[in-house]
Amino acid sequence: MKIYNFKGGFHPADHKELSAGKKERELPLLPKYTVILRQNVGSAPELCVKKGDIVKKGTLIAKEGAGLSVPLHSPVSGRVGDTVLVPGPNAGMVEAVEILTDREEQVWDTSLPPIPDWRDTPVKILKQRILDGGVTGMGGAAFPTHIKLSPPPEKIVDTLILNGAECEPYLTSDDTLMRNHARAVLVGGAICAKILGITEIYVGIEENKPEAIQSVEQASWGIPGVNITVKALPVKYPQGGEKQLIYALTGRKVIVGALPMDVGCVVINVGSCYAIWDAVLNGHPLVERITTVTGTPVVDPGNYWIPIGAPLSAVLENAGGVKADSRTGKIIFGGPMMGFAQYSLDVPVSKNTSGILLLEESEVAQFTGGPCLSCGRCVEHCPMQLPVSTLSKACKNERYDIALQKHVLACLECGVCSSVCPARRPNVQHFRKAKTELKELSWKEKNKQK
Ligand code: SF4
Ligand code: SF4
Repeated sequence: MKIYNFKGGFHPADHKELSAGKKERELPLLPKYTVILRQNVGSAPELCVKKGDIVKKGTLIAKEGAGLSVPLHSPVSGRVGDTVLVPGPNAGMVEAVEILTDREEQVWDTSLPPIPDWRDTPVKILKQRILDGGVTGMGGAAFPTHIKLSPPPEKIVDTLILNGAECEPYLTSDDTLMRNHARAVLVGGAICAKILGITEIYVGIEENKPEAIQSVEQASWGIPGVNITVKALPVKYPQGGEKQLIYALTGRKVIVGALPMDVGCVVINVGSCYAIWDAVLNGHPLVERITTVTGTPVVDPGNYWIPIGAPLSAVLENAGGVKADSRTGKIIFGGPMMGFAQYSLDVPVSKNTSGILLLEESEVAQFTGGPCLSCGRCVEHCPMQLPVSTLSKACKNERYDIALQKHVLACLECGVCSSVCPARRPNVQHFRKAKTELKELSWKEKNKQK
């Protein structure tokens, strides 16, 4: 099978050795969890419990709202506390509900019965289970998975891609899942394939994860009804971007403004596949996730199973804290390229917290924003072939009309153009701001028309 090399991208140092291959660990039970209500794109779910209610692990605490929304479940058994404002992972204060642990043996809610015979189960029921299990993408915008698995009938999907590229430096949570839980990941993928009515599954994994590749290859033997092809991909950032991954594996190009389903593909992250397996086979909604806790300052970096709602402070404490001689310069949720800097230790882990990364002061990249040298490196390396320097100037000057014309909305926010810029210009920050402003403007425009 041919592997296609997408244009642009670059090779950052990956630093995955800090956490890769270490034994998975669990966080001890905490007295309190703070579950953010709006954890994904779309509307917030509606709280359906009140203060003092007794909940079990996995009890529904908020029902999905309209549109792109998924329900939320209690991460532990205990009782419902106050509804509070907490620092959100993407800045600002956000609404959250407290769950106070009862400290007794953790008991799962059994409202979602296991579906062991999923192969003989109607697609409608499987899709409903993925919604009821609150399954989303496990990084980025946490897009609801049941929506991804519902292409309109006019879109002909023939290929399911399981995204195990994990191209962000430092992160190894997907690697850990594929090494240790490959069968569960692939069964989750096979459930997605059944829902989509297809048999072809590609698993894309970067070559720097040989153990994961071997484990997934072995686990792929004997899963009936699907044809699974595991592919080692060149190590190149952002190989795990949906459009780049689709091109690498199929040679199909998703043009600006189009979606993967427009070229017959659906891409699901391996973490979501694991969550689907757990929701369908075990009846467990998504209430905890594996997260890489890493960086030079961390005493005991590794991959930790963390209940959703655990505060950053407790996670760091359980990873041994910070080295005595460390001068931590930055804490990031996610990886160094696309993650978000955190300014409070109270921020809770969400469904999309793929990593918690600490950087030493000396490791923090400074984007001082010197004058553009017109060197063209940003354009050469942009995986979306955007006119980066022109766009950057337009966005900096708040000329969002020009930015829109030059396709700023197609920007992946991958950070490559900032990383390769010799003038250390904060290009990606300009694009993030411009995209937020443009979305806001379009939302206001739509509301005006109503
Ligand atoms: S952040 Fe956007 S403009 Fe910059 S390299 Fe990535 S896709 Fe291109
Ligand atoms: S890489 Fe930096 S200096 Fe070079 S053209 Fe792009 S923005 Fe200008």
